[in-house]
This record gives sequence, C-alpha cells and structure tokens, in this order.
Amino acid sequence: MSFVPHGSYTSLSKYATDYITITKNTTNGNVTTEKVPVGTEIEGMNILGLVLFALILGVALKKLGPEGEELIRFFNAFNEATMVLVSWIMWYVPIGIMFLVGSKIVEMGNVVLLVTSLGKYIMASILGHIIHGGIVLPLIYFAFTRKNPYTFLVGLITPFATAFATSSSSATLPSMIKCIEENNGVDKRISRFILPIGATVNMDGAAIFQCMAAVFIAQMNNFDLNAGQIFTILVTATASSVGAAGIPAGGVLTIAIILEAIGLPTNDLSLILAVDWIVDRTTTVVNVEGDALGAGILHHLNQKEMAKNQQELNDVYVEGVPNCKSEEETSPLVTHRDQTSNPPSITMPESKESVL
Ligand code: ASP
Repeated sequence: MSFVPHGSYTSLSKYATDYITITKNTTNGNVTTEKVPVGTEIEGMNILGLVLFALILGVALKKLGPEGEELIRFFNAFNEATMVLVSWIMWYVPIGIMFLVGSKIVEMGNVVLLVTSLGKYIMASILGHIIHGGIVLPLIYFAFTRKNPYTFLVGLITPFATAFATSSSSATLPSMIKCIEENNGVDKRISRFILPIGATVNMDGAAIFQCMAAVFIAQMNNFDLNAGQIFTILVTATASSVGAAGIPAGGVLTIAIILEAIGLPTNDLSLILAVDWIVDRTTTVVNVEGDALGAGILHHLNQKEMAKNQQELNDVYVEGVPNCKSEEETSPLVTHRDQTSNPPSITMPESKESVL
C-alpha cells in the first residue's frame, strides 16, 4: 500500500552523496536530462552495529561476574536517569507536537494530502493488528494446543477492553492475570511468571505498527526501500519493540532506532506521535493477546507433560527388597513391606511393592 503519492514531498536526494545524469529521448524528439541520486553511503548512526555490540557487551559483562556488576549498575542508573529526564520532557510533548506537525503542514502546503496519508497509515496499522490478532496468533495457539483459540480469547474480553481503553500493557496486567486464571484456568505459576515478562518484552502489535510507521515515513520522503532495507526494518522493529515500555506511546520513541538504521529523518516521528493515541489502542490489545496466548500454550504443554509423568509414575513397580535394613539407601518414594509377616496373597501380587 502506498501512503503518499510520489513527488509530493521533499526528495530524499538530500541524503544521497552522488548523482548520475540520465539523458532521455522523448517521443517528440526532445532530449531531457534527469539527475538521479546514487551512492548509498548514508550518514547516520550504525544502529545494527550498536545493537550487536550491546548484546555482546552484555554477555561479556555477565561473564565477568562481580567485576562486571559495577558497569551493569552504572548502565541501570543511567537508564533510570534518562527515564526521569524523559518524564520531564513529556510535559512539553503537546506543545512540541503542535509545532512539529504545524511545520510539516506548512512545508507540504497540502493539509488534505497529509490527513489522507495519515488516515491510510492508521488503517494499514489497524488492519495489520486485526490480521495478526484475529488470524495469525489464534492459528499459532491452535497449532500447539488443538483447542479453539476463540473460546480462550472470549474469557479475556475484560483485559482486552482495559488494554484498548488504557493503551498500556502494564495497566492491563492485573486484570489479565485475574481473568486468565479464573476464566481460562491457566496455572498460577505460569500466568504469574509469563504475563509480567510478556507485558515488558513481548510486543507483537508494537512491532507491526513500527514497521508501518517506518514505511510511511520512507514513502513520505520518496525513499524507495530495497530488500535489504526492508529486512533491516523487520529486524530493528523486532528489537525496538522489545525495548518499548508497556505504557501509552511507549513504542513511538523506539521507532527512531529503525529510522536511524535505514537513514530516514527522525523528526517525522512527530506525525506518528500525533496519531498514536488511535493506533496504540489496537497495538496494546495485540501486545497483551500475544502474552495471553503464550501463557495458554505453555499451560497446555505443561499439563500434557504432567499427565505423561503421572502415567509413568502409576506404571512403576519396584521389585521387593529382601534386605529391609538397607531401607535408607532406597528411594523415599518406595514403601517397603516385610514379606515374612505379609504373605503375597494378601498384599501385592507376585511380591511386588507399591510406589507412593
Ligand atoms: N502502548 C503499548 C503497550 O503498552 C506500547 C506501545 O506503545 O507500543 O503495550
């Protein structure tokens, strides 16, 4: 889907370093020349490199043990301080967005085009969420459990409504834990372990809208994405959705990582932020749905495993141990019976001892 007709906006040629001139012969005999940007050396941060470095540094610090903990604490404190700064900056956001969007409108000179383009972006994102949340995730649940996924989802209507209303996975967590345990019977040990992790890390909906946003901004700038750049968007969107916080608009800021990775201007994020209050609702519903179905699948696999273990336990018979003095050396699960005082006809057949 193309959000914006080509040629309407500032060309991304300003990001290119070289140009070639193409000469064309038109049908009426005239010769036209066209300057085409080439050379794909794009200035900007090497985000993929940074992500990889951060991953490897994390592994190395963990390997260092207590010595590495100091640096880990430093980065944690740095992260907390940045969060405090961001929370202060957020007070300026309404005014900031107003000016950023205003400048965009003046730059484009065509408000209707901007509104329709943004409308297409919103519709495409919501459609992506409907397909993922309504078809893909339920199919994955069905593939693992062979149960009706929609019956499972019906029990979670309340948390879905909370997610839609609050746009926050974290705020939805208590109601999700309650409903998944009470309505769907998911084991407490699974729901209370999986759902809090899922609410912070697993964000399918965010990854979808972040890809949409990156493509939208690329099209707004007449930037043709090649296969490599599309792959970069997919990888960085997955990584940046993991880094997004489970709060309203938590995923918008991390889109900057994707834009930097493919060399797109990050100030266009203001447009995404301006309409995020709509897209964020379905984003959050899909985010929490992914967590819930994950917990449901794990519960099913766990139950299957437990049933198998139970069956194996029921099938175990241990041969009688004639020397009962060695009792303490055997398993505490084995009940020893004195075979001289209990004839085999009264106790277990063929002088076998029971387990448990
Ligand atoms: N609002 C989303 C959530 O809480 C995060 C996001 O903005 O992508 O799950």
